[in-house]
Amino acid sequence: MLSKEVVELSKQHSVIRDIFEYGMKRAKEVGADNVFDFSIGNPSVPAPKEIDETALRLLKTSDPVDIHGYTSNAGVLEVRENIAKSLNRRFDTNYTAANIFMTIGAAAALGICFKTLVDGPEDDIITFAPHFPEYAVYAQGAGCKLRVISADTKAFQINFEELEETISEHTKAILINSPNNPSGVVYSRETIEKLAALLEKKQKEYGHSIYIISDEPYREIAYDGFEVPYVPHFYDNTLVAYSFSKSLSLPGERVGYIVAPNEAEDFDNLLPAFIASARLLSYVCVPTLYQKVVGECVDLTSDLSIYQKNKDLFYNALVDMGYECVEPGGAFYLFPKALEEDANAFCEKAKEYDLLIVPGDSFGCPGYVRISYCVPTERIEKALPLFKKLIDDYRK
Ligand code: PLP
Repeated sequence: MLSKEVVELSKQHSVIRDIFEYGMKRAKEVGADNVFDFSIGNPSVPAPKEIDETALRLLKTSDPVDIHGYTSNAGVLEVRENIAKSLNRRFDTNYTAANIFMTIGAAAALGICFKTLVDGPEDDIITFAPHFPEYAVYAQGAGCKLRVISADTKAFQINFEELEETISEHTKAILINSPNNPSGVVYSRETIEKLAALLEKKQKEYGHSIYIISDEPYREIAYDGFEVPYVPHFYDNTLVAYSFSKSLSLPGERVGYIVAPNEAEDFDNLLPAFIASARLLSYVCVPTLYQKVVGECVDLTSDLSIYQKNKDLFYNALVDMGYECVEPGGAFYLFPKALEEDANAFCEKAKEYDLLIVPGDSFGCPGYVRISYCVPTERIEKALPLFKKLIDDYRK
């Protein structure tokens, strides 16, 4: 007999996946060029050529036992050192390998952080709508509650009033994601400062640490005029969950890391705790070859300029047509308001024009829709007249 919990989870469909599958089916009927799939958040630009060159060189020149072997749980020492030095150059920090723990993408980084901080089912982690849907699953895996603060639909920053009411002695961490999936919004310096001040106060009140877990897979995808504040500069008890999935277009290689700053209250115990948490998640190490590849390419990114171009084109055109949408400062998503109260019904209507977009309900924010623009620019150009027809339909 299977676990009831797992069977229950297996029944929960990913709406994003369902739309994506529908798109593939529909493409067979009407031709791929006539289906405008904006559902999935997969990088649309290739990894820089140095990635494959480095991988091939390492395969040809390394000891085969070493390059295919296990690494220590925390990752290859030189790779962690290279990442630490790169962060020091960019953020004026003083990290060493001791501050870096290699993970299988941001997903595992978050799972490990959750497991490390949570004691039992009475504990909670707080996050903000709209949010990446998998957070709920990671919290379930760690055996805690995920509490979701409702969206600040004016600016998609933080609804502080509700946050302050929700934090309790059971709160172990506040999970933030900026640039954000799905809103594209970058949290301002003011927002981070306000959050840090509130948490300092709450830590004192409850007499224990409350961590910020900063989920940053989109850190490098930030647009002209938008600064992504480096959260550990504002709050000591910060854990950064990073990933190379988006910045280097390597989602299938599964490489990321956690940063644990020296200033964190539990610093001395954090690395051993990450190792223990990883073991509880049956996790050994990140694939050796790709640890070493990113270790050598740590200052590179894919050509991310296409996302800026797509964002400028798509955002300006939709706003000109009359869609209500917050301006994204990064990532590769738009999050406009649906043209009717029920975003599911709105997405069904969009489907009539073969525009495939995702209801905000999946992200804890009904009434809005996510549009992923990590797609060829031509797809956006061809889709714009259809978005115009869609809004005209609602104005009739
Ligand atoms: N966090 C957010 C906000 C994401 O959008 C994603 C992936 O899309 C992840 C975490 C997981 O990323 P990774 O591929 O690094 O596990």
